[in-house]
Amino acid sequence: MTHLADPFVADLFVADLFVADLFIDGVWRPGGGGERFDVIDPSDLSVIARFAAATEDDCMAAVDAAAGAQDAWAATAPRERGELLRAAYEILTAEVERFAEIIVRENGKSWSDAIGEANYAKEFFRWFSEEAVRIPGEYRLSPAGDKRIVVDRQPIGVSLLITPWNFPAAMATRKLAPALAAGCTTILKPARETPLTAAYMVEVLRRVGVPAGVVNLVTPVPTGPLVAKMINRPEVRKLSFTGSTEVGRDLLHACADTVVSTSMELGGNAPLIVLPGADMDETIEGTLIAKIRNGGAACTAANRVYVHSSRHDEFVERMTAALSALSVGPGLDRSRQVGALVSVAERDKIADLVDGAVADGATLVCGGKSSELGAFYDVTLLTGVRHGTRINTTEIFGPVVAVVRYDDVDEAVRMANDTEYGLMAYVFGEEREAMAVARRLEAGMVAINRGVVSDPAAPFGGVKQSGLGREGSSEGILEFLEEKYIALNPLP
Ligand code: ADP
Repeated sequence: MTHLADPFVADLFVADLFVADLFIDGVWRPGGGGERFDVIDPSDLSVIARFAAATEDDCMAAVDAAAGAQDAWAATAPRERGELLRAAYEILTAEVERFAEIIVRENGKSWSDAIGEANYAKEFFRWFSEEAVRIPGEYRLSPAGDKRIVVDRQPIGVSLLITPWNFPAAMATRKLAPALAAGCTTILKPARETPLTAAYMVEVLRRVGVPAGVVNLVTPVPTGPLVAKMINRPEVRKLSFTGSTEVGRDLLHACADTVVSTSMELGGNAPLIVLPGADMDETIEGTLIAKIRNGGAACTAANRVYVHSSRHDEFVERMTAALSALSVGPGLDRSRQVGALVSVAERDKIADLVDGAVADGATLVCGGKSSELGAFYDVTLLTGVRHGTRINTTEIFGPVVAVVRYDDVDEAVRMANDTEYGLMAYVFGEEREAMAVARRLEAGMVAINRGVVSDPAAPFGGVKQSGLGREGSSEGILEFLEEKYIALNPLP
């Protein structure tokens, strides 16, 4: 039933053939309709697995299983939940290369990006294993001193977790870990492009002994209508979504009908501002990470690079040299720094944006070409990009540095904020000046003199149309808890 092209994946999947199926109520099983869809390796477009398509009955069975397991899971000791998460972290640590290889095979990213993601992803299990036993509550006296106020925090209930393909592991653990730590049962819906990574992590949770029904995995076909049906089930009390702003808006509408609590991690259009006082070594190194990490397929990727005129030519010269030193190729070849895009469709979107930018007057300094075979796109540098043109207002999601020149810092701040998005921003400059700029930027996260911010211990999330709520940190678990106020009489 499952066609496996690669010996490594064959080794994994022949041993555990069921992982290409759905996971419902503690059992791996094919979809009720018997349909499957292909999982493609974007580096050579070969089919690496055929994954079960979930029907409406399968999705409803997943909701039933999660609802049935909810009370018992909520009643487990926080320490027990924490120790299950910790055990999953230990397995993922021991198997980190296998974990990374699955990510590479279906997502296409480079080996170092995949190892980076695997390590980042498993840290959410460790972090929330520690948070499970620190769920806060409150005890207060009323202002008049005549009553007692207890605030308890209880699991919100069945949680639907929808994840994208760009970080198939980390976006799933960033939701699964806090949900499970809080005492919520879950239904994970990974992106159709990358279900194998999700299946592997769910299998790890099964191996450590997470009870049946607590974690379920479905890949509904068609996605939108079946997700809407799950959201409409009254037992589903939480939607945690990472994906595009467009789909996020639709899901917010769907959640309104049954007043489902939402956490939304949506699109970004991150500005990166190079101030006159920037250290150019730090700037080039940080910009490369902010832009090229994950092949640029990150909602936090630096999408718009605003460089002060006084540093512009130096920046362009050094960035061209740095980009030229990078090698693009299949992620399993560990010598490559940049991997494939997730699909030919994604590659072609990037090519279209770059061609459009050149038509809008930008200059192509290097790159600008798609591969003949596989979903590769050259690392690319564009200068003379004008603020407000399509490439400047669209999430590029590829390895393209698009430089806008500016003369005045106030103007740079104005342009940086001139977007409906507000996830991430980067500032390179003398720290006091950069800090002053950071405070004026409309973004949920700002990096100063560094190219990456992701940290399980820090609150990740956006403002404006980039999202609602925060993931990771101590805030992350609160998204899966509800406050209950218990009113008590005064003490005698
Ligand atoms: P991306 O650009 O990262 O693919 P999407 O928002 O299209 O972003 O996809 C993110 C996740 O949302 C994926 O799991 C995808 O299958 C899912 N998705 C796409 N369309 C819908 C929809 N109409 N309803 C619910 N989930 C959807």
